[in-house]
Amino acid sequence: MTLGADDLVDAGLVAPERLGELRRVAAQFQVVLTEEVAGLIDTADPGDPIAAQFVPRAAELETLPEEQADPIGDERWSPVPGIVHRYPDRVLLKPSLVCPVYCRYCFRREQIGARGKVLGRAALDRAYAYIRAHPNIWEVVVTGGDPFLLSPRRVAAMVQTIAAIDHVQVIRFHTRVPVVDPQRVTARLVSALATEKALYAVIHANHPRELTDAAKQAIGRITRAGIPVLSQSVLLRGVNDDAAVLEQLFRALVAIRVKPYYLHHPDLARGTGHFRGDIAEGQQLMRELRRRASGLCQPTYVLDIPGGHGKVSVGPCWLHRDRDGWQVEDSAGVSHRYPPPDGTEA
Ligand SMILES: *Cc1c(COP(=O)(O)O)cnc(C)c1O
Ligand code: SF4
Repeated sequence: MTLGADDLVDAGLVAPERLGELRRVAAQFQVVLTEEVAGLIDTADPGDPIAAQFVPRAAELETLPEEQADPIGDERWSPVPGIVHRYPDRVLLKPSLVCPVYCRYCFRREQIGARGKVLGRAALDRAYAYIRAHPNIWEVVVTGGDPFLLSPRRVAAMVQTIAAIDHVQVIRFHTRVPVVDPQRVTARLVSALATEKALYAVIHANHPRELTDAAKQAIGRITRAGIPVLSQSVLLRGVNDDAAVLEQLFRALVAIRVKPYYLHHPDLARGTGHFRGDIAEGQQLMRELRRRASGLCQPTYVLDIPGGHGKVSVGPCWLHRDRDGWQVEDSAGVSHRYPPPDGTEA
């Protein structure tokens, strides 16, 4: 069972006077929530971090001049349908553009959903042929949409087909299913991921409240199968732009054997300006996180450069050059000279 815009009002999750607003947004962007995330919404909290991620708001209808339909330039790097080949050693493979939920800040919000659907067999075969024909492709990142919505039979066929390509050493699945629709992570789905090649799963979670018992159990089914699990989060104003919240999120992930991989600065997707803070604020949060938590809890804060120029780490930078060499800041914010001047303690 999933919920659309009208269902949110029927279920008492959104006040009836906001129905017009929900429908206006739904006319432009997909609206779907799973029962799992709908059940997490705290209707008493107007700033609820779960509602902020999944319940449409009128602010989504405001487009800033810098916002784009394809903010990270996927289209430009797509040689055949379903493939994005931006970096020499790895490609994205998007077998489907359907998601279990539609996140209000999504960078692919204008490509995904009913409009895009599933890659047909002929298109999928062309995508495999492209990977086979390019021996520099070392890794295939299966994303979408959400590949964990495909049937276990189709997932197994995909894993076996990719694994049979000699030069592909690593297969990576990006998915939000374990967090937002944990019952879908069945024993059959996990078995479908079995391969001799290295296979990683990267889950997506932004707030510690998303890590329910059911989500943790779903993730446990994946890690127990020997599949390393990493996570990505998006830095979202009003959801997790707070050092204590990020600390709780990353500690909770590490404690269930999930390594935080990326913290994404939100992309310039249309109608998402209300989620984006300044990069300097993100850097400050990362500094604070370094002070508070284990190195295992530190993701890399990244920006996907608009126009398809790829992802880069955006700091913070602890090191500055001056006339005498380097100045390096410690996690308490104190600067030290490197190398230390003769005869002094650093
Ligand atoms: C994000 C992305 C990848 C994966 O990048 P990593 O930094 O290796 O995680 C690969 N291809 C494209 C086109 C991407 O956008
Ligand atoms: S699950 Fe990922 S691709 Fe799907 S709507 Fe959310 S952010 Fe976008």
